Amino acid sequence: MDFDKGIFQDIGYLQAVLMHSPSAILVLDKNTQILEVNPAMEKISSYSREELLDQRKWTELVLSEDRDGLKNMLRMLKADDGSRPEQLQCRFVDRKGNPKTVLLSGTYLPGTKHTILSLIDITEHKETEKKLEVDRSRAEASDRLKTAFLGNLSHEIRTPMNAIVGFASLLQMEELSEDKKSLYLTQIINGSTDLLNLIEKTIVLSRIDLGQIKINRRQFFVNKSLQELTVKYRQILADYGKEDIDLEFLAGTTDNDFVIQADRLRIMEVLNNLLENAVKFTTSGKITFGYAYVEEDQGDGRDSLLFYVKDTGPGIARDKTGIIFDRFVKLVDKNDTVLRGAGLGLAIARDLVELMGGDMWVESNPGEGSKFYFTLPLTFSKAREAEPVHGQARPTYDDWSGRVVLVAEDIETNYLYIKELLSPTRINILRARDGLEAVEIFEKHPEIEIVLMDILMPGLDGYEATQRIRSSRPDIPVLAQTAFTFEGEIQDGLYAGCFTDYIMKPFTRDMLLAGIKKHLVRTT
Ligand code: ADP
Repeated sequence: MDFDKGIFQDIGYLQAVLMHSPSAILVLDKNTQILEVNPAMEKISSYSREELLDQRKWTELVLSEDRDGLKNMLRMLKADDGSRPEQLQCRFVDRKGNPKTVLLSGTYLPGTKHTILSLIDITEHKETEKKLEVDRSRAEASDRLKTAFLGNLSHEIRTPMNAIVGFASLLQMEELSEDKKSLYLTQIINGSTDLLNLIEKTIVLSRIDLGQIKINRRQFFVNKSLQELTVKYRQILADYGKEDIDLEFLAGTTDNDFVIQADRLRIMEVLNNLLENAVKFTTSGKITFGYAYVEEDQGDGRDSLLFYVKDTGPGIARDKTGIIFDRFVKLVDKNDTVLRGAGLGLAIARDLVELMGGDMWVESNPGEGSKFYFTLPLTFSKAREAEPVHGQARPTYDDWSGRVVLVAEDIETNYLYIKELLSPTRINILRARDGLEAVEIFEKHPEIEIVLMDILMPGLDGYEATQRIRSSRPDIPVLAQTAFTFEGEIQDGLYAGCFTDYIMKPFTRDMLLAGIKKHLVRTT
């Protein structure tokens, strides 16, 4: 097209094009200061023409990461050596703070040394592109998962099926001893149970994926339901010949009518999965489970329950504590054997907890047992919780507001439990996470009236910490929280002269408050 002779020679036409062009136009002087803009530039940037002309430099509006590219483009345009720079994508933040992406092209006018830049807004296009990219990688991930799922499923089905079909055909053989028959039958029963378990778990998982699991919150009597689990798992331990393993339930409140609005079925399903694993992986020692009431100090004030299942099993390597919640993940034990199970229990447990608004995680180290935790946000506020349960009058507690206790406890759940037990008394709690911190806090706070000291703590233990505390205030009451193994030692006088008294773990609210009261009154 011959522009020299065309109608664009007419300034009126040119002006009309500039005024109505959807592309933004910027004219920059030789120092890249803005000389002129068209209305589309005002629209894209949300700045008025006057504000833009006041801007010292267009380059300063551009995000720092994109500035070098822009400067380079301007330099190439000015070089005017016939090499037209490529269109450039660059980003800036408009006057309202919205990020914008534009496609820039330009031309240099040697006579005036001005540069004309044209900008096309591609922000929406970029966002769609990003969304498509996310959708694509999600679809790919889901595809990979499905393939892995089917691969695993076929393996998990074949294993028990092999046992069922194989031993069933062996049973058909004549002249089998009663022992053999019984062995084969056990294999068939085990295989069938595993298969059923796998089918049930797969159904739950696909229902979770399809969004078919609804959370039904009804009255859930926490202590009563968890006590039922204690009975059930003591029996299971006995069935597996593991009656030497101690199973203990630690209630977060002594109030047996403690009731919350929650989905009992789902919570029990999660706890069952965790307890099944604890029983399966633990060969000696102890399984402890329970919950603590956690008061939410910030946000919407929604309190929560922190459930836990601890065992003295083989533990889990640090780098594996994340993946064990993935589907079909099973770790090998130290003898390189994989125990029975499809690797779906924890995946289901975590999905269910998340559906109920909570989180799930594990703390573990090889050889040190495992501690599985999950939170359950409560659907009522503190005010509602304070209402009498079942019309019964809530027990009354001493009001210790203004009094100060130092609690030295390194384990988070234990501390949460103590905090919950103490909360109705309104006593002011200072917390130390180890012995050294206990001494430091104690020295900074002369208002501390009593100390609750855990014995086993990292660094400085409770015994040494107490001795240091006593060196500055010999008469401060220090109550040791002690596990069973230490009781004899305390009575033998090993700690005589160190602690004022001790409270045996596990303790109830009544035990803890009585222990504190006994020594706190003395100081009033
Ligand atoms: P499954 O349904 O087969 O029991 P899970 O998803 O519950 O599978 O557990 C996955 C893997 O996590 C187990 O195979 C085991 O390697 C590890 N694991 C789970 N719980 C424990 C535990 N309490 N102690 C040690 N390892 C555990």
